[in-house]
Amino acid sequence: MPLAVFDLDGTLVDQASAARSWTGEFVARWNLPAEAADIVAAALTERVTKEVIFDRIVEEWSLPSSGAEVWAAYRARMPQLVKCSPEDKVALAELRSAGWVVGIATNGTADNQVGKIRATGLAPLVDGWVISGEAGIRKPDPRIFDVLAQRLRCALDGWMVGDSLEHDVKGGVAAGLQTVWIADRNASVPAGSARFDIRRSSVAEAVAAILAT
Ligand SMILES: [Mg+2]
Repeated sequence: MPLAVFDLDGTLVDQASAARSWTGEFVARWNLPAEAADIVAAALTERVTKEVIFDRIVEEWSLPSSGAEVWAAYRARMPQLVKCSPEDKVALAELRSAGWVVGIATNGTADNQVGKIRATGLAPLVDGWVISGEAGIRKPDPRIFDVLAQRLRCALDGWMVGDSLEHDVKGGVAAGLQTVWIADRNASVPAGSARFDIRRSSVAEAVAAILAT
C-alpha cells in the first residue's frame, strides 16, 4: 500500500495562529505592555530552540518564572489552541479509504506534538506518527521517514506533504518520496530550494492532487 506522510505544524494544524493566541494569553497573564505581544510572537518564529527563546523572554521581561516553566506551560497549552480544518480531516479519511497508509512526521517534543495530534482529533485519522523528539532524528534527515515506514509496516514509497521546503520537501526528496509543498499561491520559492512535485495551499487540495495522480 502506498504511504502518504504529512507534516504537523503549518500543514495539518494552524500552528502560527495558535502561537498568536498563546502570545495574547501570555501577555495578559503577566500584564506585559502591548508591544510585548509582537516581540514575543516574533521570537517564537525564530529558528532557535524553544528553550533558548523562552529563557530570553523570561529575562527580557523580568518574569518571576523560569524559561523552562514557560516552555512547559506552552507545550501544555498549545494542543488546546491548534485546529485542523474539517476539510483536511475529511480528505485524510478519503485517502485512507482509497487504500493509502497515512502517517505524520513532525519535528518537536513528544508531549507537545502528540498532544496536538490527539486534541485535534487527528489520531484516529492516521495510521501512526514519528516525532523527532522521541525518534532522535529530525527532518530533513531522511531516516525519520524510514522509522515511520517501519512503524506502519509499509514500504517507503509515496508522498510527503508539508509547508517547509527545508524540512519536508528536502527530507521527502532525500527519502525518495514525491512531494507536495503546502504554500500560499503567491509565495515565492527561495533560490536553491529542494524541488517539489506539486504545490497546493491546503492538505485537502494536496490529497485531491495525490488521488488524481
Ligand atoms: Mg511545518
